[in-house]
Amino acid sequence: MKKGYFGEFGGRFVPEILMPPLFELEEAISGIFSQPRFQSRLTKILQDFVGRPTSLTFLENLSRDLGFDLWLKREDLAHTGAHKINNTVGQALLAKDMGKKCLLAETGAGQHGVATATAAALLGLDCLVYMGARDVERQRVNVRRMELLGAEVVPVQSSTQTLKDAINQALRHWIREQESTHYCIGSVVGPHPFPTLVRDLQAVIGREARAQFLEKTGRLPDQVLACVGGGSNAMGIFHPFVQDRGVALTGVEAAGEGTPDCFHSATVTRGSPGVLHGFKTSLLQTPEGQILPSHSIAPGLDYPGVGPEHVHLHQTGRVSFVQVNDRQALAAFQALTRKEGIIPALESAHALAHALELKGTLRPETQVLVNLSGRGDKDLDIVLEELGVAG
Ligand SMILES: *Cc1c(COP(=O)(O)O)cnc(C)c1O
Repeated sequence: MKKGYFGEFGGRFVPEILMPPLFELEEAISGIFSQPRFQSRLTKILQDFVGRPTSLTFLENLSRDLGFDLWLKREDLAHTGAHKINNTVGQALLAKDMGKKCLLAETGAGQHGVATATAAALLGLDCLVYMGARDVERQRVNVRRMELLGAEVVPVQSSTQTLKDAINQALRHWIREQESTHYCIGSVVGPHPFPTLVRDLQAVIGREARAQFLEKTGRLPDQVLACVGGGSNAMGIFHPFVQDRGVALTGVEAAGEGTPDCFHSATVTRGSPGVLHGFKTSLLQTPEGQILPSHSIAPGLDYPGVGPEHVHLHQTGRVSFVQVNDRQALAAFQALTRKEGIIPALESAHALAHALELKGTLRPETQVLVNLSGRGDKDLDIVLEELGVAG
């Protein structure tokens, strides 16, 4: 495979002026990042600060209802409440070793911004976060959180004032400040080497889950499910299972309201090839190449692109992709909360919803593992409003 490509997807479609920091990062990955000394420092942070390994939980009540065995990998138990911290502490440690002073990020719902600001505080780095002005309005609590952690949040006024505009601004800022600044990308997206770097940092999820599953059951799961926004929690849990041909891997995309002409975020299943934010992938776009607005009830799934490796794994048939709509995700949110005492993030509820759809289709000894990418505290306002409980 061509370097930096997954089949025909990925690559590095950036202005000439962004090539030096990408080369510098690539060198740091093959130098610093691969050293046992770096890896053991990272492992220590993951254990002592992030709280790894996260649990593997058997869902006794739901399994009884469903007629097969359902398990969760509990990324909701990681510090700051989701898998995103695995990536940001890794990139922050690398940036520091590269001599960088500042972490640059962009964020939509604010979760990646909070995870980056957290890692920056831990390692004594400055932190600058671009965020669409509309998202700043909608996500006040996360903006406050980032500011308390010492980050500067810059509202972006251009275009739709959401994530894709914040990414464009962050790329512009990186052009100017590449000497001092590391661009901490939040998912398996962006120009090479980011999709590989973020995957390798998130693969700790799948390595742990694989070992925990073997230890608890003596075998591997039959199916592994994860929600796909940019695709980092999914690549993280899938990666160590890709070689295990007996393990079916399924990525769950957000179908929005679920009607044929509604806005959605199902980029792998309903997008078409194109280039956005420095890499080739599947995109939600018009036939003329205008990026379409995306939508999901889950803020973290709301992105018009997706990691290039997912598109490739879809094309080769190794990973299946399915869609779950807002209503199904809400039902799964309620089921997990009421029957198991775990309040999931709305993103993760999409993956769970697909598992619930499998009722009646699987033999009783089937083992299904869902990546619970985060906890749902952040989504309570959305859920209460949807359920008509809000005052
Ligand atoms: C951000 C986020 C996602 C989506 O991002 P991926 O890169 O697709 O993992 C999923 N779940 C939670 C809890 C998130 O915060």
